[in-house]
Amino acid sequence: MDRVLNFYAGPTALPLEVLESAKSEMLNWKGTGMSVLEISHRSKEYTQLHNETKDLLRKLLAIPENYKILMLQGGASLQFAMIPMNLLGDDQTAGYIVTGRFSGNAFETAGKMRKVYLSASTEENGIFSRLPEADEIIIKPGTVYLHLTSNNTIFGTQWKQFPDTGPVPLVCDMSSDIMSRKIDFKPFGIIYAGVQKNLGPAGAAVIIIRDDILERSREDLPDILSCRVHAEKNSLYNTPSCFATYMMNKVLKWAREKGGLDAVEKQNEKKAELIYGAIDKNPGFFKSRIQKECRSSMNVTFNLPSEELESLFISGAQKTGIVGIKGHRSVGGVRVSMYNTHPTGDIEVFVDFMKDFIKHNG
Ligand code: PMP
Repeated sequence: MDRVLNFYAGPTALPLEVLESAKSEMLNWKGTGMSVLEISHRSKEYTQLHNETKDLLRKLLAIPENYKILMLQGGASLQFAMIPMNLLGDDQTAGYIVTGRFSGNAFETAGKMRKVYLSASTEENGIFSRLPEADEIIIKPGTVYLHLTSNNTIFGTQWKQFPDTGPVPLVCDMSSDIMSRKIDFKPFGIIYAGVQKNLGPAGAAVIIIRDDILERSREDLPDILSCRVHAEKNSLYNTPSCFATYMMNKVLKWAREKGGLDAVEKQNEKKAELIYGAIDKNPGFFKSRIQKECRSSMNVTFNLPSEELESLFISGAQKTGIVGIKGHRSVGGVRVSMYNTHPTGDIEVFVDFMKDFIKHNG
């Protein structure tokens, strides 16, 4: 069967070269006579892969030396719980900016265990179409960290500039835009992300944590939930998600070969220009609800004049081999997710489909 153009929000498309390479090693990885799925996570082959993957991430993202990299199971969602559990003392607090579903989940999860407060929310009648202005963000005295989500996967907003919080470190969920652009690490105490959108398959999360923040990890936690223990054990406290790490390793090498973060960022900008260009050219037909300055270059959402046309658009796309563009069930409409691994050519094909659709139905 031919491969489709896959715009699912995650897990999503991986580069063909990466899949082919994994396929070719499936029966005999590195001359071991086994696949990476079968080998011990304590073997020298896996240990080398594990450490190499961390090095690749550090180099590609230009992660400073005073940050540790953890690769854990449990997805980004586990970090919604682990981060407040580790960082907040009983009488301490952290602020949460809620700009969508996942930042809301992070806030609610933290609130079940520790004292946290709502720093800002941009929700209006269940819709998140923008990010807060600087003067909407409350930072209470004594705040240990301010949590935010860099890219809203469901509605399609993205912070272009992060708020200036002075000495209060940012803790940021970058699940849907990690490695999509250059980042100045200085304001961040923690950056974390599920791997399954921009870095590889599902099954692992990357946590990048500054040393002084890591040192604050509470001692009264089970080892499996302790950032300090995972850092001390090099993310090998228990069996890691070996296959996710293996695939991430291949995606990172693929990105390096493409020209690294500069090239990936340029390609993401180009793809965003193409698709928003097509939307803005036909504002009466393709309607974006998102404030222009907040538009995501990863998840593009829009509506058509009626639900019937939206269904026709989605089913018509499917017939031409374009899948995964139905908006999230809570929002409806169309959502195109185009992560680091999506080539520009895929977006060009999609934009041609948009033009063709409007010609026949506009
Ligand atoms: N944060 C964001 C921004 C997401 O998009 C998602 C998943 N789509 C999550 C967190 C949850 O991630 P996971 O499924 O890895 O727990």
